[in-house]
Amino acid sequence: MSNQELANFLFPNISDFSDYEKQYPERELEEGAMVTRFAPSPTGFVHMGSLYAAFISSQFAKQSHGVFYLRIEDTDQKRMVENGIEGILHDLALYDFKTDEDPIKGGKYAPYIQSKRKEIYQSFAKRLVGEGLAYPCFCTEEELEAIRKKQEEAKERIGYYGKWARCRHISNEETYERIKNGESYVIRFASRGSFERKTKFKDAIKGTIEFPENDMDIVILKSDGLPTYHFAHVIDDHLMHTTHVIRGDEWLSSVPVHIELFEALHFTLPTYAHLAPLTKKESETKIRKLSKRYDPESSITYYDEAGIPTPAVKLYLATIMNSNFEEWYQKNPNADIDDFNFSFDKMAVGGSLFDLQKLESISKIYFSTITAETLYEQTLHYMEIYHPSFAELLRKYPDYSVQVFDIERNTPRPRRDIASYPDVIRYHGYMYDEIFFQGNPYQNLDPKKEYDQSILTRYLDVYSVRDNEEEWMSHLKAFATKLGYAADMKSYKQHPEMYKGNMRDICEVIRVAITGCTQTPNLYYLLKLLGPDRIQKRFQLFISNQNKR
Ligand code: GLU
Repeated sequence: MSNQELANFLFPNISDFSDYEKQYPERELEEGAMVTRFAPSPTGFVHMGSLYAAFISSQFAKQSHGVFYLRIEDTDQKRMVENGIEGILHDLALYDFKTDEDPIKGGKYAPYIQSKRKEIYQSFAKRLVGEGLAYPCFCTEEELEAIRKKQEEAKERIGYYGKWARCRHISNEETYERIKNGESYVIRFASRGSFERKTKFKDAIKGTIEFPENDMDIVILKSDGLPTYHFAHVIDDHLMHTTHVIRGDEWLSSVPVHIELFEALHFTLPTYAHLAPLTKKESETKIRKLSKRYDPESSITYYDEAGIPTPAVKLYLATIMNSNFEEWYQKNPNADIDDFNFSFDKMAVGGSLFDLQKLESISKIYFSTITAETLYEQTLHYMEIYHPSFAELLRKYPDYSVQVFDIERNTPRPRRDIASYPDVIRYHGYMYDEIFFQGNPYQNLDPKKEYDQSILTRYLDVYSVRDNEEEWMSHLKAFATKLGYAADMKSYKQHPEMYKGNMRDICEVIRVAITGCTQTPNLYYLLKLLGPDRIQKRFQLFISNQNKR
């Protein structure tokens, strides 16, 4: 029985591989355009590591006018989660990663779900069997375990290769009989590699890498007829014309297998780019991989709940991706990520530290670039879900809220204090009477500090809500002088003994009394937005609070 006859017997109704080669021709793209993909297994939520991979792949495709597509790798039916695909598409949409082709939208290279490509894999397996480059293997779990034990005892490399690859030496006739008798089997690749020889390849991130050649007869089709990762990767990335396979570096050691498969099938090898894992600093001395299981920040729902906007997370991923991005962004906070030219050679070869504090500082820059109206809309959206009572206040006072958020926003150096939506309450909450008068607004102040109450009892006599900032300041100075405070720092420094204090002390009392905080945005605007009646109430509360101590 010839190999071709065996192939026809194993795959009777499977078309010739050349049909698929015709069905999926080369893509017509401009020179240098990259075709990249995001290839998750639908095992639940997209975690930070895969979001990072998706970001990189989509960014390179976009930047080179190429194609970014989503392929669902669901050949491990045991690991499947219901609605996994919807979940993945939802998360990608949330982060605004636009796929050019995907399982819902479709595309010229469909289907984009591996379980729907069974016949495609089988046609290429048929080709390999016909050429004597693949064969059915009947070894059971127990038999494989027995081989492993023997290898351990003989101190030999573990695996199905060379003399250990028992089923490789079974005649086609015997194979035929055993399959006719209903024996279960898988299809293995017949490796022609040698562990003594080296295979070299150039990884776009890690540089030139050398490994021993593959000599393992790896499984390409499982007993259910579905491919293993290795086989599916080679077939799909060939037929879908992926130019750059960007994936986690846990696959790096599999490259020799992939190279051998690409060669055996006469396919052109794509460029590989293996990503260093995201890591986390556990202590001063310990850095470990970010864990899906143990680190809440590895789940992207964490950022939804924490109120860190997706563009901020994306900006942070960009800073991890390219070491020179952050400096560029600091200089161009209003530019778009897409204006930056990412490159593989600026990517980490070892681990990439995922640092929440760093994310926070990037998020602060992001928040400082959006308009007060946008901040209002986004905060409202978040609060509706996570803090309905604050959402109610925002809805009750829309214009006022926007004015509050606008303080020191439209300036050359806007404030960078808000890192998340909850920070809006933290930094602006006191501007709402419903919040301010709810508890004790002064509980965080230094209880020992003495404040001059006469400032508060007399200030409203001179305060006018109609003053512009300059007038306000000159009135405040006159007021300070009247009360025995220095109106300018220079005179105060020359003769501190002549004054009760200076302008800073005046402002501090007023600030603290109306906000409960020692640091706030521009006092002039806070006073103006509150207006005399509300200022008055707050002054009174402050005084009575002080007197109770
Ligand atoms: N499905 C593989 C994984 O989730 C994808 C690896 C790849 O991108 O090729 O690890």
